[in-house]
Amino acid sequence: MRSARFYGPNEPLRLEDAPVAEPGADEVKVRVRAAGICGTELHFVEGLYPPAKTPMTLGHEVAGEVAEVGSAVENFETGDRVAVYYYLFCGRCRWCLRGFQNLCLALRGLFAFVSDGGFAEYVTVPAHCLVRLPEEVSFEEGATLCCSATTSIHALSVAELQPGETAVVYGAGGVGLSLVQLARLRGARVVAISRSEYKLATARELGADHAVTPAQVGEVVGDLTGGLGADVVFELVGSEETMPIALSLLGKRGRLVFIGYTGHPLTVSPLALVVDEQQIRTSVGNSFAELEVAVDLAARGLLKSVIADVRPLDEINDALDALRAGEVVGRVVVTP
Ligand SMILES: [Zn+2]
Ligand SMILES: [Zn+2]
Repeated sequence: MRSARFYGPNEPLRLEDAPVAEPGADEVKVRVRAAGICGTELHFVEGLYPPAKTPMTLGHEVAGEVAEVGSAVENFETGDRVAVYYYLFCGRCRWCLRGFQNLCLALRGLFAFVSDGGFAEYVTVPAHCLVRLPEEVSFEEGATLCCSATTSIHALSVAELQPGETAVVYGAGGVGLSLVQLARLRGARVVAISRSEYKLATARELGADHAVTPAQVGEVVGDLTGGLGADVVFELVGSEETMPIALSLLGKRGRLVFIGYTGHPLTVSPLALVVDEQQIRTSVGNSFAELEVAVDLAARGLLKSVIADVRPLDEINDALDALRAGEVVGRVVVTP
């Protein structure tokens, strides 16, 4: 089958033929109809986070149709529309049993990080990793739900954002634009930060009360909170420039939530955190139940996916270049 594979940092993905695994008894083979390109793809390509093996098929936002089912699979059949949960979790370990499949101790695979992902015609996964995709949700939207939207649901839960609180979303890519909508749904006041006018306009359309540049945000948050500061700051950029600004926006008992990966160190004064009881929290990926919630919210029209472009798999390297250049508002989806 055709697939787009990573061989090493700072090299384009290679479009080539790769084997497709036949489903075991409890597994399902899914024909990929759409795969989203996440910021994490750039982390691999730029060498921040090496995948467990090379070559590796990247892509962890996958939606498609069931093409083949293993002998023991009862609840799915050929032709079913599905979103794929990209942590191929064991279902038996301490963290799976507590509902944190993103922390599974015995993963059977993890798209793009540990095992081949969805920039390919097929993926083979345990049937328990599938969420049914209703007709109201397109494959393209379904794919983006698998990481960007679902990761925001997880981050919201980590932040314990309460109605009436003020949330700052630093970064308005795929995850940020979902967070804007979800924080709004929860009854928070939402300030989005980006350097891109297009992204700021999109954040406003999706419900941000204010969408501003980094230079403006201190004043805006100050005005909005009567000088008290933000209750939650979601840090989605993680650069040396953004992290001190994010920290400076927090009010008393404020929570700074890091989402995803950064290679940059952050210097903090524990004393400064202690006196205001501020906290730094971290959020990685999402749980299986959160993917079910994301699909449900999308089907009910409460969570919109911003799809910047849909491209054939052959154009994946161009799409990665556009993402790196900061030109993409929302998600680019490829159709293998
Ligand atoms: Zn992702
Ligand atoms: Zn597990």
